[in-house]
Amino acid sequence: MLNLTETAGNAVEQDFYGKLVAIVSEDRVRRNELLARHTTFRIGGPADYFVCADKEQFASVLALCRNEGMPYFVIGNGSNLLVSDAGIRGVVLRLDRADSILFYPEKDRLTARVGAGMLLSMFAKEAASRGAAGFAFAAGIPGSVGGAVFMNAGAYGGEIKDFLVSVRAVGPGGEIVTLTAGELKLSYRFSILQKEEFYVLDADFSFPLGDAVEECRKIEELAARRREKQPLEYPSAGSTFKRPEGYFSGKLIMDAGLAGLRVGGAKVSEKHCGFIVNDGNATAGDVMGLIAKIQETVQEKYSVFLETEIRMLGEFF
Ligand SMILES: Cc1cc2nc3c(=O)[nH]c(=O)nc-3n(C[C@H](O)[C@H](O)[C@H](O)COP(=O)(O)OP(=O)(O)OC[C@H]3O[C@@H](n4cnc5c(N)ncnc54)[C@H](O)[C@@H]3O)c2cc1C
Repeated sequence: MLNLTETAGNAVEQDFYGKLVAIVSEDRVRRNELLARHTTFRIGGPADYFVCADKEQFASVLALCRNEGMPYFVIGNGSNLLVSDAGIRGVVLRLDRADSILFYPEKDRLTARVGAGMLLSMFAKEAASRGAAGFAFAAGIPGSVGGAVFMNAGAYGGEIKDFLVSVRAVGPGGEIVTLTAGELKLSYRFSILQKEEFYVLDADFSFPLGDAVEECRKIEELAARRREKQPLEYPSAGSTFKRPEGYFSGKLIMDAGLAGLRVGGAKVSEKHCGFIVNDGNATAGDVMGLIAKIQETVQEKYSVFLETEIRMLGEFF
């Protein structure tokens, strides 16, 4: 027998798909795309629609989702995300990685405008090779420029906040606005983007000028340090927890005797206890279970609450 509700549902779905394709073209919309393919954890169920867009298309896709009441989520390089095993209902939208970097050399500074979908590492290397000083820390962070602004990413004493001037973003009503670094309220792993719905299209940076050879050497040195200290050979989302005031989360976890603790395929890295790694076929449920055990033990032993730095996406039970 014909199921009318299902038929109507399919028609609505087909209509929405048609509208998406009209904006970005067919090869840039994937249905039931496994998000494990788009996260550095290699974990995550399917998104109903996975859409790649350039900056102009991006604003139109957002407008379409909002007008049609379709849930949506913007991802960068998926390097700070734990996506649920059930996946995401609605649209997961990603800005193109291939975007432009425009450099404007000045007398004693280098300014740059970079597309938010671009990998931060690529931008940092390009900037260093033109003499941008102090930005080498960014070359080892495997996120996009947009995700790095959202998180105010940082390492080895540097953070995005030190060099960001402003961003161009799509606001809640679809308007394109400029937000200054001050308005973004950047602080430790925080920006106002975590509270208000603005999506970064591109970002303006300003660097003091230094010695390009020395900056490129620093990038190599920090990369070697990361390889030595961090479990880069396993899929992960970097540091699982924020740094609690006065402590280091990795050390607390190690001192609590949790190195190597596992739930299913998720494991506390022995190389760096601040990292949970996917040691095989970890599910998001495994990672959540392990996070809970770590939080409970550290709270019990040291009365310190470990707040997650990684962001959860989708439904967790
Ligand atoms: C091996 C490893 C090492 C790491 N080392 C570091 C480190 O040293 N320092 C550090 O800070 N982090 C580190 N990270 C974590 C991660 O790389 C950063 O948090 C990064 O900034 C996330 O960027 P992303 O593009 O991957 O964002 P995603 O993980 O894709 O998304 C994170 C958040 O950013 C939002 N977002 C993405 N793009 C935009 C946009 N254009 N506009 C608005 N919001 C957006 C998303 O909606 C989401 O809420 C590490 C991760 C790994 C796997």
